[in-house]
Amino acid sequence: MDIQDIESDITEVLLSEEQIAETISDLARRIEADYGDDDDLLIVGVLRGAVMVMADLARALRIHLTMDWMAVSSYGSGTQSSGVVRILKDLDTDITGRKVLIVEDIIDSGLTLSWLLANLRTRGAESVEICALLRKPEAVKVELDVKYVGVDIPNAFVVGYGLDYAEKYRNLKSIGVLAPHVYS
Ligand code: 5GP
Ligand code: MG
Ligand code: MG
Repeated sequence: MDIQDIESDITEVLLSEEQIAETISDLARRIEADYGDDDDLLIVGVLRGAVMVMADLARALRIHLTMDWMAVSSYGSGTQSSGVVRILKDLDTDITGRKVLIVEDIIDSGLTLSWLLANLRTRGAESVEICALLRKPEAVKVELDVKYVGVDIPNAFVVGYGLDYAEKYRNLKSIGVLAPHVYS
């Protein structure tokens, strides 16, 4: 039996496993410095792309925290954000008076996070901030206050480490650009 080699569908690795680990660690040190002296931090992972970031970031943080999840849909069938966001799974946590940190995989148009930030800020949280592993150039066009960004990447469609193409490639350990033959 031939074992598939999903890594071979990647033409260019943008962030290796090691670079991802360093980026997560840097983010964790900054978050600890800001939230370290209280024990009320709630990190909210945006399903499904942020699963890997959440798992690694939570373990890199050496402070008390609780975790919750939201699922939103902002894309129609295409690869462009529509700006129309639907909540598919809401928080299980009442965030009144809480310090909330939204954890995202990537910011492209920023439309999803703008909406999510505004939505969570209506719920009486003490604070709502954003941590995103990756940010694309488009994101600078929107008025979006992102407190923690891992790395800025070029404008390419990337997969791996939670990020999918047609729900696949989330299990790649690195983040990279898909080979054209995958699309066709
Ligand atoms: P935005 O609303 O900022 O345009 O996009 C938000 C969501 O679109 C991200 O959380 C992510 O799920 C998806 N997305 C944006 N860019 C990419 C990309 O390059 N690759 C993948 N796999 N998903 C992306
Ligand atoms: Mg996402
Ligand atoms: Mg996706």
